[in-house]
Amino acid sequence: MNVINPRPYEMLIGDRWSTGSTGSTFDTLNPATAQLLAQVCEAGEADVDAAVRSAHEAYEKHWRRTTPAERGRLLRRLAALFERDREKLAWIETLNVGKPITHSLDSLKSMPSSLEYFAGIIPAARGETIPVGNVDVLNFTIREPLGVCVLIMPWNYPMTLTINKLGPALAAGNTVILKPSEVTPLSTMALARLFEEAGFPPGVVNVVNGPGATVGEWLVKHPLVSRVSFTGGTVTGARILASTASDIKHVTLELGGKSPLIVFDDAPLDKAVAVAAGDIIKNSGQVCIACTRLLVQDSIREEFLEKLCRRLDTIRIGSPSEPATEMGPLVSAAQKQRVERYLDIAEREGAKLVQFGREELNDATSAGFFVKPTLLLDSTARMQSAQDEIFGPVQSVIAFSDEEQALRIANDSRYGLAAVLFTRDGGRALRMARGIQSGSVAINTGMRTSFDAPFGGYKQSGIGKERGLEAICENMQIKNVKYDMSV
Ligand code: NAD
Repeated sequence: MNVINPRPYEMLIGDRWSTGSTGSTFDTLNPATAQLLAQVCEAGEADVDAAVRSAHEAYEKHWRRTTPAERGRLLRRLAALFERDREKLAWIETLNVGKPITHSLDSLKSMPSSLEYFAGIIPAARGETIPVGNVDVLNFTIREPLGVCVLIMPWNYPMTLTINKLGPALAAGNTVILKPSEVTPLSTMALARLFEEAGFPPGVVNVVNGPGATVGEWLVKHPLVSRVSFTGGTVTGARILASTASDIKHVTLELGGKSPLIVFDDAPLDKAVAVAAGDIIKNSGQVCIACTRLLVQDSIREEFLEKLCRRLDTIRIGSPSEPATEMGPLVSAAQKQRVERYLDIAEREGAKLVQFGREELNDATSAGFFVKPTLLLDSTARMQSAQDEIFGPVQSVIAFSDEEQALRIANDSRYGLAAVLFTRDGGRALRMARGIQSGSVAINTGMRTSFDAPFGGYKQSGIGKERGLEAICENMQIKNVKYDMSV
């Protein structure tokens, strides 16, 4: 057994660490070995209520009246503590999510800068004076926080998604309740210890754990919650919209994707191959912005696929703790079953499955949730396997003959999160970037989000933007005030 904490992880509710009112715990596993990693205390409805009330009290009593400079100071302290513990947090992510340690370390590198960025830009979130018709009337705006925000995370990037939601929410003057995924709560629980150390007053940040159907629902439906920021699946997002509709809560949804990677005949092929392969193997394909539809122009199809297959053949699959490992397991047995079900569907609908990679598994990892990188050759745009988000190391390969057809196929999706295209023709690149219905487009480079640029989906990939200046707008409301100076 590989238990990293001898006692169940407690939740942070107001000024105390709590085992919860029900005494229930749940297990969290190491997906590389299928062994128990730790147990986590599960919140009951009373605990959720206590967390929301703590956040509300902290907001009303003092946090809403703090200055941007005061909040910035605390966020900078948190950034410094994160930097101190970054390697430890990366190892926890590797053990709990199954991503290779090199990837965990890399993805956490910019998190302190993310916190510092939001600490730094919040003083610029000012109101304005507006010259309305009457010169005697002073008309101006004030930006105000929203109140209690619930931040709900999925299991694929627990730490980066938490930090990128937390920074702008706190900087804007809100108090928060974090709800990590019940599959991968451990890095968030280690992060929670840093809030106290950084000096955040009790109640400003709370962390509760448990399943979405209970704990998540109680949180989003709570009447004292003003905003929900959710990252996860589209079906869950729709449910959260419904749950929050009657209270007209502010909701930001970052949802699923089925992004296209389009390779034209004048593309820098080696670079395009590296990006296509990277999107299959990175976090075992469990990445919302991964390009899982590979569109290749007919005239270069053979050459491109030959290069791609050669690269995929060398992929080293194995223990995420080994520095040489390029791809680890999927996050859970359920996710592995889901991917395998889609491989069956793809085969039945006429795609040709080809699997790659060198599995270097040992006694410990042989029970892990591994799936080999898979190309679905000869796919067509309307196949179910080319339409649904599979969320694994699987890419549908679809042929196209010209720009118009490439654009039509790229947009033939209910999702619109990201798109990548490779071409040396600048006019074509910009025409495609304009025509593609997605929130992010990368040209001649891979898709990589950053904390200082807005991110969010079109269509069923979401509502609202996170990161960048837009994240501040999403976390604040604007009040318009007019004052008749002639009185
Ligand atoms: P999920 O929707 O099953 O769960 C996400 C979170 O929502 C979990 O914390 C879960 O407990 C909670 N939840 C579930 N039901 C709920 C409910 N009724 N009310 C409130 N909360 C509830 O998603 P997942 O399987 O954890 O993650 C994978 C999905 O996340 C994929 O679809 C992926 O594309 C998406 N994702 C999107 C982005 C993005 O930025 N767009 C980033 C990462 C992952």
